[in-house]
Amino acid sequence: MKVLVVGNGGREHALAWKIKQSPLLSKLYVAKGNAGIWQIAEKVDISPTDVERLVEFARKEKIDLTVVGPEQPLSEGIVDAFEDAGLRIFGHRKNAAILEASKVFAKNFMKKYGIPTAFYETFDNENEAVDFIKKMGTPIVIKADGLAAGKGVVIAYTEEEAIKTVKDMFGGKFGEASKRIVIEEFLEGEEASYIAMVKGEELVPMATSQDHKRVFDGDKGPNTGGMGAYSPAPVITPEIEKEILEKIMYPTLKGMKSEGREMCGFLYAGLMIGPKGINVLEFNVRMGDPETQPIMRRLESDLLQHMVDILEDKINQVEPVWSDKWSIGVVMASKGYPGKYEKGFEITGVEEAEKDPDIVVFHAGTDIKDGKLVTAGGRVLTVTAVGDTLVEAKEKVYRAVQKIHFEGAHYRKDIGDKGIKRLYK
Ligand code: ATP
Repeated sequence: MKVLVVGNGGREHALAWKIKQSPLLSKLYVAKGNAGIWQIAEKVDISPTDVERLVEFARKEKIDLTVVGPEQPLSEGIVDAFEDAGLRIFGHRKNAAILEASKVFAKNFMKKYGIPTAFYETFDNENEAVDFIKKMGTPIVIKADGLAAGKGVVIAYTEEEAIKTVKDMFGGKFGEASKRIVIEEFLEGEEASYIAMVKGEELVPMATSQDHKRVFDGDKGPNTGGMGAYSPAPVITPEIEKEILEKIMYPTLKGMKSEGREMCGFLYAGLMIGPKGINVLEFNVRMGDPETQPIMRRLESDLLQHMVDILEDKINQVEPVWSDKWSIGVVMASKGYPGKYEKGFEITGVEEAEKDPDIVVFHAGTDIKDGKLVTAGGRVLTVTAVGDTLVEAKEKVYRAVQKIHFEGAHYRKDIGDKGIKRLYK
């Protein structure tokens, strides 16, 4: 099979790395990818959101399956366009991708179908939003409706900060994406990610995982796209998993189907597990980044075969096999991320780090300049390790991280600690 992976990040590198191991694969392409993916897949110089040209390419090259990593092309209708052209693609159609693309839609959908989520109101004008903030008090969470690459959510600890955020958002901070906003109750607890492969009302769970959104250790500082993840996540016990399936995942698939928005692809529920039970913070219609990286390290069965089976309506036959090992991914980011940062610094030590067979380094913002590997984005690499215990995986991953260098490299040093605390308390 000829397979095209669409996307440029660490998630896409991990998906491509896994697909590359499939005996079904004859040739792998990536649009556009990064310096890591280009080592295992042929580079297609088309942007992930240039749907028209991607369709043209897939048709010309007779691509058997296209796999979409990021949310943007899904919400812009890449799946609809491929299907219209008679091309096979794994991902949600535009009318289902709205579950991620509009937080107003997602919150109203959850309310309608009784899916547990934080108390909220939606607003399209400043005065009513400010009144609501005054009534609710702080801390309070303010979210731009549309896609903002993980930056459209602000947790305001003072009324002043909350009002300023509302003014900024309605003032056009995120353009169209913040013309409407959601303001919701702040929930205490521990976050976890629950991801499944879905089709219609059926699903196949992926391994559990936990992301780390804040930029600094101890969950301090601003939100990022994600600074690291590990799998499995001990916070998701078998009882909690049962509840997630019964109260969140299946009702979501059923509700979306009855709205005429049948789902097909990855469904990700970002959860807060705490004193108020299990609540959905957000839905994503794709795998998480960085969760994909440690999850793919633990998947022993054939991802490509699973995707083909799902598209051929054989989801009941899909039984992913997971390794018993623990896996951790630590994101190495540019200095200044998630704010302003510089690019173009040479990266060294990746090969050295990968001499340990338990280490795989996935690339995100990387490029090749004058024959050298250089930084080209905010999140640069995800270093992953597997180990027999979470403690062993953590030791290995940080040993590897220390071998890799670029100017201003920043990474969290506590990825895995929440799981370790839970396991050994
Ligand atoms: P992503 O990059 O995952 O797509 P996003 O921009 O869609 O992020 P959310 O996942 O809704 O945003 O929120 C980002 C982060 O903000 C969450 O992971 C969580 O840490 C925090 N957060 C969101 N909603 C709440 C809430 N109601 N209470 C407490 N924290 C929250």
